[in-house]
Amino acid sequence: MFGIAIHGGAGSLPRAQMDAERERRYRQGLEDALAAGYAVLESGGTSVAAVTRAVTVLEDDPQFNAGRGAVFTFDGRNELDAAIMDGTSLAAGAVCGVTHVRNPIELARAVMEHSEYVMLSGSGAEEFALSRGFTLVPRSYFRTEERWRQLERIRGGEAGLSPLTISHVGTVGAVARDARGGLAAATSTGGMTGKRYHRIGDSPIIGAGTYADDRSCAVSATGHGEIFIRAAVAHDIGARMRHGGRGLARAVREVVHGELAALGGEGGVIAIDGRGEIVMEFRAEGMFRASRRQGESAYVDIYGADRPAP
Ligand code: ASP
Repeated sequence: MFGIAIHGGAGSLPRAQMDAERERRYRQGLEDALAAGYAVLESGGTSVAAVTRAVTVLEDDPQFNAGRGAVFTFDGRNELDAAIMDGTSLAAGAVCGVTHVRNPIELARAVMEHSEYVMLSGSGAEEFALSRGFTLVPRSYFRTEERWRQLERIRGGEAGLSPLTISHVGTVGAVARDARGGLAAATSTGGMTGKRYHRIGDSPIIGAGTYADDRSCAVSATGHGEIFIRAAVAHDIGARMRHGGRGLARAVREVVHGELAALGGEGGVIAIDGRGEIVMEFRAEGMFRASRRQGESAYVDIYGADRPAP
């Protein structure tokens, strides 16, 4: 049973800003990425290839906070983070603070497959990208007017706004199980709007925002990164399965509604286990999410079951 799940971020998605046309475009973006990842699995590709493909499509979609359309730092730059993990070998690769790499998830995969390291940062990561034949893009490639306006609202000190309340939403991720049972997870983000001091969130940190282990599950997270790091969310879910005998759904629920809730963390996770079971759970108004398992039809949703979309 192969399968894939993807997310496009979680958080407060104000209904007022979500008209029918906008919602249709988000759903289309999720469907396209899901179909791309599913096609890799269907043609016998690995889970690593499938999550890379799905995340690349989401990075290229300017609606999401990853690759083109990423949020801005306080200084008006786009600093991108990404990570990938292969649950069979426990190999992992991550990049953080890159500013010229069109698809950071592909660079993270290159770090995993072609370097002796797990995590590269900033200009060093870009030097490595050049050595691997990546073409770098100008900073302007990532800019969208909507993200710029969000930054201006934060910089203008609009009452009640903080990087936590304004759209960091849109981080992307994918988890998959391939036909031979291999699990993989991938996550990519621009981080939080208005971030300073080369802040790095949970997404590229193995065990926090991204983790995969064939003995338990693959997890990609989204939400308030500082709290996800402190709770080691992705690793904790797997550890509860491996050492605590939990099933996937229970492990995810305990971490999202127990550990995260205790720290006041908003966000969610997508996860898949060795049997192809998929769980998508969040503590937020909504989470852009989609999944498809072998022989089943695609599921795409934004809001919670108790909050039906308009
Ligand atoms: N987790 C990401 C970060 O903190 C942001 C998000 O998922 O919305 O960088």
